[in-house]
Amino acid sequence: MTGALGQSLAKVLGTRTSGALHKLGLETVEDLVRHYPRRHSAPGELTDMAALRDGEHVTVMAEVRTATIRQMRSRGGAMLEVLVTDGRQSLSLTFFAKRAGVLRMHEDKLRPGRVGLFTGTVGSYKGKRQLVHPDYLIVGVDAADADEATIEASRPIPIYPAAAAVPTWRIGRSVRTVLDPLTEADVPDPIPESLRLAHGLPTLLEALRGVHVPTDQAAIDAATHRLRYEEALVLQTALARRRADRQSHAATSRVGVAGRLLDAFDTRLPFPLTAGQLRVGEEIAVDLARETPMLRLLQGDVGAGKTIVALRAMLRVVDAGGQAALLAPTEVLAAQHERTLRDLLGPLAQGGMLGGADVATRVTLLTGSQGSLARRKALGEAASGGAGIVVGTHALLSETVQFAELGLVVVDEQHRFGVEQRDALRTRGERVPHTLVMTATPIPRTVAMTVFGDLETSQLTERPAGRADTVTHVVPADNAAWMTRIWDRVREEVDAGGRAYVVCPRIDGDVPEDDAGDDPASDDPASDDPASGEEPAPDVADTLGAKPTKRPLEAVSEVAERLRGLPALAGIAVGVMHGRLSGDEKDAAMEAFAHGRTPVLVSTTVIEVGVDVPEATVMVVLDAEHFGLSQLHQLRGRVGRSTKPGLCLLVSHAEDGTLSYERLTAVAETSDGFALAEKDLELRREGDVLGAAQSGGRNSLRLLRVVRDADLLAVARDDARSLIDSDPTLASSPALADAIAMWLGEREEFLERT
Ligand code: ADP
Ligand code: MG
Repeated sequence: MTGALGQSLAKVLGTRTSGALHKLGLETVEDLVRHYPRRHSAPGELTDMAALRDGEHVTVMAEVRTATIRQMRSRGGAMLEVLVTDGRQSLSLTFFAKRAGVLRMHEDKLRPGRVGLFTGTVGSYKGKRQLVHPDYLIVGVDAADADEATIEASRPIPIYPAAAAVPTWRIGRSVRTVLDPLTEADVPDPIPESLRLAHGLPTLLEALRGVHVPTDQAAIDAATHRLRYEEALVLQTALARRRADRQSHAATSRVGVAGRLLDAFDTRLPFPLTAGQLRVGEEIAVDLARETPMLRLLQGDVGAGKTIVALRAMLRVVDAGGQAALLAPTEVLAAQHERTLRDLLGPLAQGGMLGGADVATRVTLLTGSQGSLARRKALGEAASGGAGIVVGTHALLSETVQFAELGLVVVDEQHRFGVEQRDALRTRGERVPHTLVMTATPIPRTVAMTVFGDLETSQLTERPAGRADTVTHVVPADNAAWMTRIWDRVREEVDAGGRAYVVCPRIDGDVPEDDAGDDPASDDPASDDPASGEEPAPDVADTLGAKPTKRPLEAVSEVAERLRGLPALAGIAVGVMHGRLSGDEKDAAMEAFAHGRTPVLVSTTVIEVGVDVPEATVMVVLDAEHFGLSQLHQLRGRVGRSTKPGLCLLVSHAEDGTLSYERLTAVAETSDGFALAEKDLELRREGDVLGAAQSGGRNSLRLLRVVRDADLLAVARDDARSLIDSDPTLASSPALADAIAMWLGEREEFLERT
């Protein structure tokens, strides 16, 4: 960065001021002018002081009532006590000094009747709220002060994200010092002029003046809107460029061949495909026929029938002479997928074997916990092309696995934003396989557009016919009668041939309760890697309103013991399942559950994704308020997978009227995963959605909000795509290219994950 914006603050403002601003991470003129006000307060309008909290760093606007200097006999020295008010609340400001004379300067300014901005940390003394040594700015008095003009002209006053060391008014003054001399030529605008004019937006300089030195609310609004659009455009152009980049790689066109596997499979299917499955199938067929790699995200609620869609895509590729890899987030799911695909394909999966169909191929499972013999065989089948379909975890794309002709990678259950497809989508070599990413956690359209703005998306919205719905209830944990009824109900289901999941937030009881379900790492989507951990901790980012509790959270091992001792469940075997079991143990646990040897399975969220046991009819989620909305929705998708209706009981200590309770009720009342995902997004902080993309950082998304600005994002995406189409290198929009480079520099990590 060069020019006026690139200048260091030390040079422009001097080292004392720049040293203070450094504490806020502000180094250059650009950093400072991009440090937008959090809000604006109108002069004369006294800030409501009712909400002041101890320890909070605040700026209040108030009127001085009294100012009194007193000698302090006990401690020696003098004290100035100033009482200010907003008309209802009052607050005391205290200043201490060795000699009273030092306090006169303050006393002289802080005259009764004067209005000012006071900045400091709220404390209390003898039950009264106070600010000790606050910074202040008196309207109409601080004449030597550049702020005066602003205030006197009755302009809105910017209130900045501040720190104790750098009060908001000092930031404001510094901003103006650097902003005032800037000209249009000094401030290159990332928004190309054609777009700016088309949308009727102010220039960047105008917008910066609009937020920092606004004349009125309308100016603030226009400036803010422009800055939001700018953020959306930078983000979307970065994504559009990535998309164009990917599409510059060649892929092999895979055109279906009539009369082969896919046709044979369709004939075999015991049910008609839904309209959605057919439509998405067509979208994929068109993509696969291209010589640019498909990059498609398939969203479909739990049970929507994504597996069939994926399998049909894989068969199309096999028909065209390629191989397909199906990646699952865990080994349990990989093994299950392999069984499912074999079942669905029947003789079509017995290529080269007695009884196999002529057109048949083979399905091979390749996982880390396989014995070396099985693994060597699987590696051989992948390398020779003998297996048309190779199923595994993400480790499958590691260096050691060779494919004869990999044409399609399907990533299943890509339910944590951005994590799993990292490897799958990484382009390597000249020719790249087509990629289909499937997610069962419905991603709100808005997030999909932001985080996955460079993917095409397909949705399966309807559920296959003949599937019963799952009824969900919230059950208060302290209602003994209800709790008894739950286990009776589990017994009834098991007696009728059903199975029950009991989900707990923890594995065992020896974990200190404060750690339980409260792993800060799970706030970060990047650290939550099911492929390695297989134990998605209860999604804390997702559990807004679940307040920390002193009561230990329910743990798998303890609950299993308890259930084994319950008279209601006498004679019923109880199994356990969690991420700390080995691959074999997990398989064995699932197997015993699926076949009814242990019809009750106490588990962590490891069963959250994909696990398919049609006989499972009940799910009891303990400490349900510790799970996220989408996670609960995902979990309950494990029941009601046959024609028998499912029952999901959310057992919770959340009290009626709390946000936690409201969230559980939302899950109980909404069976539409997309609606729930939108609701989830509304209820939690945006920062949690985009993770690093939105939290902190100097040039991250500051003003843009995914939900609120959905329309803006859509407009920006279209603009960005046409920009990149006509000017792939952004040669004629250097300021935009620079903005992206800066954004990418800071967001590398984020985009890497995207
Ligand atoms: P998802 O992966 O989207 O959660 P699945 O692909 O596992 O869903 O499908 C759920 C169940 O519905 C499976 O048992 C599958 O065989 C069945 N299914 C899929 N498509 C149809 C259809 N068109 N009609 C009836 N059942 C279907
Ligand atoms: Mg599935």
